[in-house]
Amino acid sequence: MIPFNRPLYLGTELACVNEVLRAELGTSFRLECESWFHRHTGGSVALMTPSCTHALELAALVADIGPGDEVILPGYTFVSSANAFALRGAMPVFVDIRTDTCNIDERAIEAAITERTRAVVVVHYGGVACEMEAILPLAKRHGLLVIEDAAHGVMAQWRGRPLGSIGDLGALSFHATKNYTSGGEGGMLLVNEPRMAERARLIRTKGTDRDAFLRGDVDRYTWQVVGSNYLPSEVQAACLYAQLSAAEKVNERRRALWQRYAEMLGPLGASQGFGIQSVPAGCRHNGHLFYLRLPPGLSRDAWIAALAEKGVEACSHYTPLHTAPAGLLNSRFQGSAKHTLAACGDLVRLPLYYALTDTEQAQVIDAVTELMRQC
Ligand SMILES: *Cc1c(COP(=O)(O)O)cnc(C)c1O
Repeated sequence: MIPFNRPLYLGTELACVNEVLRAELGTSFRLECESWFHRHTGGSVALMTPSCTHALELAALVADIGPGDEVILPGYTFVSSANAFALRGAMPVFVDIRTDTCNIDERAIEAAITERTRAVVVVHYGGVACEMEAILPLAKRHGLLVIEDAAHGVMAQWRGRPLGSIGDLGALSFHATKNYTSGGEGGMLLVNEPRMAERARLIRTKGTDRDAFLRGDVDRYTWQVVGSNYLPSEVQAACLYAQLSAAEKVNERRRALWQRYAEMLGPLGASQGFGIQSVPAGCRHNGHLFYLRLPPGLSRDAWIAALAEKGVEACSHYTPLHTAPAGLLNSRFQGSAKHTLAACGDLVRLPLYYALTDTEQAQVIDAVTELMRQC
């Protein structure tokens, strides 16, 4: 069976982890990772966190979002995009997505804005940027923050700008299913709005100015704001550091795999009614995922089972949040959920990861081609 995912493992992680466990004076892999993102984003303040979920929670705290506030986000997303704000007592307001990219439909945002709205949370699905050209001025006009859930987006760009560094705040993920992983869990908050940076540091470090103390800026550190501990372990940072050193190589391989899928499955798929992810002009994706949208009338479960029989593990993706038990109590959907529900029902992701060999990919392509021909 060709597995759906194999977490990125290069082998170089071990030496870094070993260094962490044996160092008597501590290591600074977290600072190295943060400085890597600072450089690669052209100056964002990068704060590594235990997960992207934590980075999103930190974003909600930094943005001071609370009871009575609303945030607008796509109906088709991971539960953490909504939880981070619901945890603060705010109301997630879902809007529909675009069919071509599965990203938030920028045309649906304005109708969801009320006097309580504080932020628009954009999710760059599969490392393909949302329609930022429309969203940034819209948010500005209404005085809303733009928070990017760029969990899928490490090494992807919009008009040359890394995803996560475009809005006010951006969250990245290093979970085992993402393009780079810090040992199964990990995340990063990018603070792109300089006036929020100090507050973000304080909240992440138990509400204290310990960062300033370590820099030698103050004599002792004290309780400055209400905060928590959103620092990752050095073991996580060591794994990530090793993988960032090979970031370009990994990205190129993923993009090549994506391209081969698109070339080999796109044309036949189109003739048989299957859709694939489209990549609008100005977007440079990172091969985070490759999906097919099944034509109406095909059972997705039957399709995934038929692929499994041919030795290929394929997966659906998100389930509707607004009709889930917690969603019914803590969120609302503005407007039609038509495209959200469609993506929840007909999207199938194929194996795509650094360690997928050309032979394995050919097997996947053969299996899918055979099934498509039968449609
Ligand atoms: C994976 C993911 C998250 C959460 O990331 P973790 O690092 O697992 O907490 C959030 N949003 C999206 C869109 C994701 O895919």
